[in-house]
Parts: sequence; structure tokens; C-alpha cells
Amino acid sequence: MRTLLNLTAEIAARYLENLEDRSVAPSAEALAGLAELDEPFPKQPMEAGCVLEALDRIGSPATMGMAGRRYFGFVIGGSLPAALAANWLAGAWDQCPGLFVASPIGTVLEEVALGWLLDVLNLPADCGGAFVTGATVANFTALAAARHAVLARAGWDVEADGLFGAPPITVVAGDEAHPSVIKALGMLGMGRSRLARVPVDGQGRMLAHQMPPLSGPAIVCLQAGNVNTGSFDPAAEICARARAAGAWVHVDGAFGLWAASSPKYAHLVAGVADADSWATDAHKWLNVPYDSGLAFVRDAAALKSAMSVTAAYLPQGGHREPSQYTPELSRRARGAEIWAALKSLGRVGLAELIERNCGFARRFAELLRQGGCDILNDVVLNQVLVSFGDAARTRQVIERVQRDGTCWCGPTEWQGRTAMRISVSSWATRNEDVERSVAAILRAAAV
Ligand SMILES: *Cc1c(COP(=O)(O)O)cnc(C)c1O
Repeated sequence: MRTLLNLTAEIAARYLENLEDRSVAPSAEALAGLAELDEPFPKQPMEAGCVLEALDRIGSPATMGMAGRRYFGFVIGGSLPAALAANWLAGAWDQCPGLFVASPIGTVLEEVALGWLLDVLNLPADCGGAFVTGATVANFTALAAARHAVLARAGWDVEADGLFGAPPITVVAGDEAHPSVIKALGMLGMGRSRLARVPVDGQGRMLAHQMPPLSGPAIVCLQAGNVNTGSFDPAAEICARARAAGAWVHVDGAFGLWAASSPKYAHLVAGVADADSWATDAHKWLNVPYDSGLAFVRDAAALKSAMSVTAAYLPQGGHREPSQYTPELSRRARGAEIWAALKSLGRVGLAELIERNCGFARRFAELLRQGGCDILNDVVLNQVLVSFGDAARTRQVIERVQRDGTCWCGPTEWQGRTAMRISVSSWATRNEDVERSVAAILRAAAV
């Protein structure tokens, strides 16, 4: 085992070092090499070291350089050194933190990390929390708690009796709500299409005065951090309206919620803490390895009612039992990485990470604008939308940027225009990476 793990550490370290000189996107040759994986299930065993070497030889060149310094696609953070190392150790531990008796360390790490997260994100200290795979499942988990609470207030037990015959729930979301929120609503039986959509402004922010009237069981879905522009819905105004009508407010803050941890950007989340539930990703801006999402619910009992599981063989001790708060029973010990990331950064380091990334986003916008590109959004956070002309030309430039390999950025559509999206989300990105990437983008745009 020791030889194998040392070999793995060696291979992984070499992989990360090589990322600096490699094209961010895998080469055509590396992708063609994946054909070697296409073999029938082997009859005979293979020594673990050889398995690992094959994985590295075929797999490493075919990876996207997401762990590197110049990957700006989607909203994808790198892994902090302490978080990656904790992930390895937690893998060796092989803990199942569904129950305290199953993994004392796994459950205590979650409990401690939950307290720190609520503190640094400026949310109520007694929120219930769930450590899940990502913001999609965090949205699902929090909205399940919402569904429970608004129907319980109407005298309906949705967990026991389901939605057949239940009082209808008014569900409201902005036109720019993330598709994962819509998917979560579908999975919860609240429908992908029956919700009321609220128009948005040019940055994708909900127009609060265009909210439909709320009465009876109602859930309003807000967004903190639009996946294209980085903009925030006007939370204070919407929470006040929703509160007055007794509605539940849920916030999808997959990456935007982290703005709360920076004194410089906390103004963006003004009013967000007035909501009832929140979803965020640790694998995005906290820079822990995939997969890692978080759901927080003000009324911990509502979360527990939606997620509880009972069986004689699943003892409930005097501790917080994680499986009473998550869709899953068995899970990996995500608390280890989150705890390690927070412990290694501290309050100051986390704020610096957020502020550095946002500063780089502004720098990208400034240099690209100087280079003659159109910036389509107000760069308030870490997202930049760039146009190089009409849709066809913008797509062409994006393809050239990706082929060049200095950095990686993807395409998007923003209010009828095609754009290249830059998301600065990694601790590893440095000033020189922004300069190098801008030069590569402007080269691609000059052709
Ligand atoms: C990324 C993202 C999601 C989905 O998160 P996953 O971790 O991919 O499930 C939801 N909402 C927003 C705003 C996002 O940026």
C-alpha cells in the first residue's frame, strides 16, 4: 500500500507541475488515446501500480487543465493544496459520515465546518445544514425543506401524504434562475413549467416590482450570482415582500454567496441573509475538490422533516446525525476538505481569494476593452462576458482561444448575444496568468 500511495503522490505532483506548460485543453492526440480504454472487461487481475500507471498514461493527458492557473470555463475553482491533501487522507480513511457512530470524525468535521460556514457567510448560526454533491442537489434539498414548511403551515404533511390532493404551492423565480433550480422543482413534484417567472433587467436581476402577488403556500427562488453576469437579485426588497405574505425565500448562491465572506463584496449579498434557505457550492469558490455542495436552512426542523430517515439499525445518538439532513444516507466525508480549506485560508485568506479573483475579472474586462472587445456585463464579481462582434465571429474567436491552449473559456448566450464567458474562480490564478491569457485572446481576435 505504501509503495502504491507514494507512487500515486509522485504521479499526481508531476501532473500538477506539468499543467503549467501544457495546453489547458487536451490535445487531439490525447483524446484519440482514450480509445485504448475501450476494451472488454479483463479476465485477469492487474497489479494496482500498473493500473495506476495506465490511468496516468492514458488519462492525465486527456484531462482538462481545470486544476491549473488558466482555466476560466463555466464556474470551476481549482483545489486548494490543503483541500486536495485532505481529500486524499479522507479517501484513505474511507469514512461514511451518515451517522456519528459510523464516523465520529466525519460527523464532527461537518459540524465544525458548518458553524464556520454560517459565520463567514453571515447566515443565522442555528441553521440546519447539508453536505451534498453540488448546488443542484443543495437546491433540491433546501427546496424540499421549503415544500415541507409551506405545506405544513397549510395543514398538509407532504412527506407522509405526497402532493396528490395537497394545497397548490405558488412558486416564483426570475427569468434568469439557474436551470438546476428548475430541475430541482421538477424533481420535487412542483413542476418545471408551472412556476411564475419574473422578468429581469439587463444584468439578469429580477424586477422586484413585477413579482406576482403571493398568498397561501408560496416559495420564491432568488439568485445570488448569475452564472453569466455574476449579478445578484434584489434580495432585501424581495425578502420583505415575501415575508409580508408568509412565503418562503430560497437563494441559489452557488458561487455568489461567497461574496459575503469579503468585506469588499459583502454589499452584493445585502438582504440575502433574510431568506429562509440557501444553496452554495464548495467546489466552486471555496476551491475544494469535486464534488461538494452545501444547503443551509434557517428552520433546521423543516430540513430534518424533509430529509429524515428512520430504521432500527440506524441509531440516533445525542449528536447531529448528518443523514437526517441530506438526501443521501451513505456519503463520503466532504467535511474533511471543507474544514481543511477553511482552516488553511482563515477568514483573511478566504476574503483575499474572493477579492483577488474579482480583481482579476475586472482586469480582464479592462484589458480586453482596451484591446477593442465588447464587455457585455457590469463586472461586479468574477464573471466577464466578452463579445468579438457577431455570433459567428465570437464563436470563431472562442474556438481559436480553446485551440491555442494558453487558457480555456467557453461560449454562452446573453440576452440575445453570443459571448465568451470568463470565470475567475481559482486560488492558483496569478496576475501574470491574466496578462498571458488576455494576450492569447487578443491574438485569437486579431486573426
Ligand atoms: C453551478 C451553478 C449551479 C449548479 O451547481 P452544481 O454544483 O453544478 O450542481 C446552480 N446555480 C448556479 C447559480 C450555479 O452557478
